[in-house]
Amino acid sequence: MRDAIIEAGGEVHFECKMTGFKLRDGRIEHLETPNGHVQADAYILATGHSARDVFELLHQHRIQIEAKPFALGVRVEHPQALINEIQYHCAFQPDELPPASYSLVQQIQQKGMFSFCMCPGGIIAPAATAPGEIVVNGWSPSKRNNPFANSGIVVEVNQHDAYAVLKETGISADDPLLLLSFQQMVEKAAYTAGGGKAVAPAQRLVDFCEQRTSASLPSNSYLPGLHSFPLQEVLPEYIYRVLSKGFPQFGKKMKGYYTNEAIVVATESRTSSPVKIPRHSETLTHPQIQNLYPCGEGAGYAGGIVSAAMDGERVASTLALLLQK
Ligand SMILES: Cc1cc2nc3c(=O)[nH]c(=O)nc-3n(C[C@H](O)[C@H](O)[C@H](O)COP(=O)(O)OP(=O)(O)OC[C@H]3O[C@@H](n4cnc5c(N)ncnc54)[C@H](O)[C@@H]3O)c2cc1C
Repeated sequence: MRDAIIEAGGEVHFECKMTGFKLRDGRIEHLETPNGHVQADAYILATGHSARDVFELLHQHRIQIEAKPFALGVRVEHPQALINEIQYHCAFQPDELPPASYSLVQQIQQKGMFSFCMCPGGIIAPAATAPGEIVVNGWSPSKRNNPFANSGIVVEVNQHDAYAVLKETGISADDPLLLLSFQQMVEKAAYTAGGGKAVAPAQRLVDFCEQRTSASLPSNSYLPGLHSFPLQEVLPEYIYRVLSKGFPQFGKKMKGYYTNEAIVVATESRTSSPVKIPRHSETLTHPQIQNLYPCGEGAGYAGGIVSAAMDGERVASTLALLLQK
């Protein structure tokens, strides 16, 4: 990809962070970076869903952004052998079948709870982007040959939910960073509960639902280490309530799923962006800034590798046509 950019006359700047920009007459005049100014006819903003400094920068410049509903919860991990047994109902033959996956969804008290990014034979990984926060995510190696199966299990969060939790902080109900603040609050609570570094707080699954602190934790894939902690003290009350009622329901759909052999780790909070950057449906430009093109997952137009790549392609080709005119 880099070669294609360079052959077409482009440049690639590594280690070059956009730290600010200059606005003039409803347009971006240039970007500020530690290496100097960068000037262009148009600017594609595709900084991902964790570039909080970029959302804050836009907000400081009074550039319109919106709070966007997302989902937050935990990662649950079972032995892969148990998931194989539940899903295949027969002895698992690794030469004949891939490690089993699952997809679960449940409605609890008008709230959706669902599995997200299930990773067969996978690993729970630390994914925080700032000190003092814990975020966990998951991935599978190509052979899917780790002895564990993990999945995000998350609950939907909208403006109303976030405001109910945060209103005592003085934040306004229509603050575009409301959901981001909610996300950050839980990530900080998980860090404090873990006790520092990238250690994450965790509980066995049945203990989690029955509000018992786990006396021990099973072996697991999370390399920085886990600390047994009552997660109802980490998660917002309604998220905990939905999860603790939903897991036994999952156990009815997949017999054997609801077990203390499984572990629950907090917190899975980066399911999608908590902010949306608006854009015109055809020209794809920001409504206030004529030469700014919000793009990808961070702007709220994608939810994964392929959809982010497709949105990038769409923005680039739309922009190329406009610049030719
Ligand atoms: C552990 C893990 C596992 C995942 N597994 C999957 C999976 O299996 N399948 C799937 O579909 N998705 C998966 N995802 C999600 C996927 O990675 C994202 O959906 C996707 O990368 C979003 O693409 P994007 O281009 O919008 O943003 P990103 O890939 O986040 O790219 C944003 C880029 O902008 C840069 N940037 C940010 N701020 C600035 C700045 N100020 N100046 C300059 N550059 C900046 C960042 O460094 C980054 O390179 C996973 C994510 C993680 C963390």
